[in-house]
Amino acid sequence: MRTLVRNGRLIDPRSGMDEVGDILLDGDRIEAVGGRIEAAGAGSIEASGLVVAPGFIDIHVHLREPGQTHKETIATGARAAARGGFTSVCAMPNTSPVNDSPEVTAYILKAAAGAVVRVFPIAALTRGLRGEEPVDFAALRRAGAVAFSDDGRCIQDEALMKKVMASARDLDALVIDHCEDQGLFGNGVVNDGPLARRLNLPGIPASAEETIVARDIRLAGEGLGRVHIAHLSTRGSARLVAEARRRGVPVTAEVTPHHLLLTENEVEAGGTNFKMNPPLRSAEDAAALIEAVRNGEIDVFATDHAPHAAAEKARGMKEAPFGIVGLETAVPLLLDRLVRTEIIPLLRFVEMWSTRPAEIMKWADKGRLEPGAAADLTLLDLNRPMTVDPERFSSLGRNTPFAGWTLRGAPVMTIVGGRTAHAEVPC
Ligand SMILES: [Zn+2]
Repeated sequence: MRTLVRNGRLIDPRSGMDEVGDILLDGDRIEAVGGRIEAAGAGSIEASGLVVAPGFIDIHVHLREPGQTHKETIATGARAAARGGFTSVCAMPNTSPVNDSPEVTAYILKAAAGAVVRVFPIAALTRGLRGEEPVDFAALRRAGAVAFSDDGRCIQDEALMKKVMASARDLDALVIDHCEDQGLFGNGVVNDGPLARRLNLPGIPASAEETIVARDIRLAGEGLGRVHIAHLSTRGSARLVAEARRRGVPVTAEVTPHHLLLTENEVEAGGTNFKMNPPLRSAEDAAALIEAVRNGEIDVFATDHAPHAAAEKARGMKEAPFGIVGLETAVPLLLDRLVRTEIIPLLRFVEMWSTRPAEIMKWADKGRLEPGAAADLTLLDLNRPMTVDPERFSSLGRNTPFAGWTLRGAPVMTIVGGRTAHAEVPC
């Protein structure tokens, strides 16, 4: 089946392309890009006035299956991803059971085969995420794990971290680290600062994150392979990553929309939908992260999509689980707050959602508009108004801090492997 996407504003950060033209899809591959294309008999999608970008990739989501399907399933998470403009997502291993065996990886891939977007399993670094015994890296890689992470936990023992990083390096596999020193983290629930003191809540200091970011950078610098730092939340972490990259250390980093757009000042009025890990930090931290995005010192955006049931989030600041949903708000939020405001150009935005994630995952057929690449496209309407309404989410999670936000700019069509995974009705 061939499909001609006509008259779109084609954006390809790799080649610097930003021009109006057509793109022809043949089955699950891109056949031709740019200019006016004649394709007799092909289906046709009119994209005039829309941005046509290589499919967006979110390398950090929690889809809760197997085990916690009341929060989310692979199918509902994938539908939320498609609605949010994503063609590929990488699912973290803190499911129940943990994705620490080829059997669990196979289970996820089987469910993913029926999902509307591509779902790639990330396997644990240690069995049960317990930070004690390494997983069988080769077996998990063979089963289809695309990266390794103990996200939500963090390996504290440096000798063990060296061992798992070396195992991943020898397979040319990516390690993603949720950087958290458990001693410094303690039983914290919000950023350690004036807010924590005023509310008399245990605080999470910046050093809990930065200590481990520094450790991981040191290990990557010692030849133990590349490491990807998940969800940077402090200016100190951003500085450490920027400085390491200048020295040529193989470290990459991601930042979430909420750490860019929200601060701890909103937590008191907002409640548990503003409770996540790492926590919302100070206004200075958020400003430093935006500056690092602008300077190219942070590679990618990622949502850390973490759905929870309403009753779980209703338990109060100390007891409610960490995490918020993000798949259906991330692209409109950043289009409105970073692109429309000209903090970053559209090309850089697409690079951070598509080109760089594909490079980090070493997916040569994604993140690009080129003949032969996957027919994965994200179509954006930069002028489409949108109000965040959790009741309309495809995700089973409603736990967003952005409810009621009015935004301009949104994904309107998501094409995965040449097939339409989601299409908005024109407004
Ligand atoms: Zn995490």
